[in-house]
Parts: sequence; structure tokens; C-alpha cells
Amino acid sequence: ICWSVGGGWHRPRVSPYGPIALDPAAAVLHYGQEVFEGIKAYRHADGSIHTFRPDQNARRLQRSARRLALPELPAPYFIQSLRELIAADGAWVPSGADQSLYLRPFMFAKEAFLGVRPAHKVNYYVIASPAGAYFTGGVKPVSIWLSEDYARAGKGGTGAAKTGGNYAASLLPQAEAYEHECDQVVFLDEARNVEELGGMNIVFVYKDGRIVTPQSESILEGITRDSILQLAIDRGHKVEGRAVSLTEWREGVASGEIAEVFACGTAAVVTPIGVLKGRDFFDEQPTGTLALELRQELTDIQYGRAEDKHGWMLRLDA
Ligand code: PMP
Repeated sequence: ICWSVGGGWHRPRVSPYGPIALDPAAAVLHYGQEVFEGIKAYRHADGSIHTFRPDQNARRLQRSARRLALPELPAPYFIQSLRELIAADGAWVPSGADQSLYLRPFMFAKEAFLGVRPAHKVNYYVIASPAGAYFTGGVKPVSIWLSEDYARAGKGGTGAAKTGGNYAASLLPQAEAYEHECDQVVFLDEARNVEELGGMNIVFVYKDGRIVTPQSESILEGITRDSILQLAIDRGHKVEGRAVSLTEWREGVASGEIAEVFACGTAAVVTPIGVLKGRDFFDEQPTGTLALELRQELTDIQYGRAEDKHGWMLRLDA
């Protein structure tokens, strides 16, 4: 779908996958004016194709777009774009355990000009790719590297938006994590509060059953986290969204107050955190069963094996 100043949203169409022609002066290439989403389509046992809380992705795309001075795509257009892609290419939705079709809606500044201002011409696309199970041979706890030298987002910045620049900023710290034999990087804010991983939110489970997760303006509000926490509330857990300092994390683990630490996002769903490693420390993390139980409960809803009591699923192929 195209958008222009004066013309609004127009020209929705489905076309075969292939390169996009861009003018070398296209604003996105120079000023990074772009936003995106990540969402999955699941095949249920009867062959039907469903997606999970697309209204939430539509709203987050709008919030991201607003921050990047891009036009807001109306939610019905967002949902229609997923339906049309499935109508054209639904055969690509795999049917194996934990398999899905990953959908990547994205919007960028196509207008060609050199100068820093919001573009007057913008394109929105959806592409898709079959995604296998994130973990093969069972869910394994991941190890996390604490980034001390780099920040992912600053106050008043674009941290809460899903935009490429945030991910560009996380590549070097992620490479540092790999150098230290860690799977993922965790970021702190200026006050040394815990933010999130490169592509997942973080959740702490206290031994009294309380669940605490960082809340701030510079964190991407994960839809998986919101859903997992709702399932936890349904089970009677108390959930707090607030600042969590690195000290609270490390002392909570050392004293046994924190019973479990896990990360969550669309790609991995839920993954326990096994180790937190920093420049001068190595903290083993406690593991429990709640993360895996919530993971099972959520995937049972997504794959149509359990009742969708919150009305989260939307059928795409009918
Ligand atoms: N934080 C970041 C930085 C992410 O890229 C993602 C993945 N979209 C998440 C958190 C988790 O969000 P969601 O559960 O909506 O996938």
C-alpha cells in the first residue's frame, strides 16, 4: 500500500516476492525513517489459519509510526494486509509442532530527497517467511550478557518504537555478547534499571508468586509479555510493571527472593534465563516451572489446542 501527502493510503495490491526499486536518495536509506512489526500465522489441526492479537500489532505499528513521523496505517488496513497475504500464499503456513509463518509488516520513507524532514511518500509492505521451532530438542535456558558500555535507547528517544535504528544500535553489544559466549544481551537505562534484551522483554518471578517486569518509556511493549502476564493473572499471580534495578535483580537471585527469570517475545515465545554474565561477575539464575507452564498455555491457545478465553485469535483464511 502507498501513502502520500494529499493522497492518503492507496493502491493496495499483492505481488510476487521480489526486489523493491528505490531511488538512491530515498529518505529511508539516509535517515532511517521506517517502522515494522513481527507477528505469526499458525495452522490449526483442522487446517485453518489463525493469527494472534493482530489488533495489538496494528496499534503498536501506529505508535511506532507516530514517533518516526510516519503516517498511521488504520488497523483495518493492517488486518486486511495479513488476510490478503494469506489468501495469496496460505500454503506457506507450515503445520508441524511449533512451526508458523512469520509475517513482517513494514513501512518506510520512499520519497527521494536529501534533507532532514518527514517524507511525503511512504510505502507499506508485508512479507512472510516460514519459521521453524525456535528451540530444537526442548526449550533451553539462555545466557545473557550485561551491556555496560552501550545503551539501546534513551529517555525521549525511540526505544518504545519498533524501528530499525534501535536494532542497529544493538548489533555491536550483541556481538559483544557472543564474544563472551552469551546468547543475548540485556540493556540497562541511565539509572541502571533493567530494560530488555535485544529482541525480548524480561520478567522476574518472586518466590511469593509476585511477577515483576520493567516498565518504562524506552522499552518495546511486547505483546507476548502482555499475554503471558494476563495468563499469570488468571492463575492468581500479582503482576507489577515498574523499574527494576540491576541491584534488585542480582540481590534477589543471591538471596533466593527471585525464583525464576525469563524472557519473552514472538520468536522464542518464552525462554528461561540460565546465566547473567557481566564484566566481573557470573550469576547463575534460578529456574522454575512457571515460565514453561505459561509458554505451554500460550502456545496451546495459539495452535488452537486450548480455549481462546480472551478472544486473542483471529482467523485469517475465512
Ligand atoms: N523487545 C524488543 C526489542 C523486540 O524486538 C521484541 C520483539 N518484537 C520484543 C521486545 C517482544 O515483543 P513481542 O512479544 O511483541 O514480539
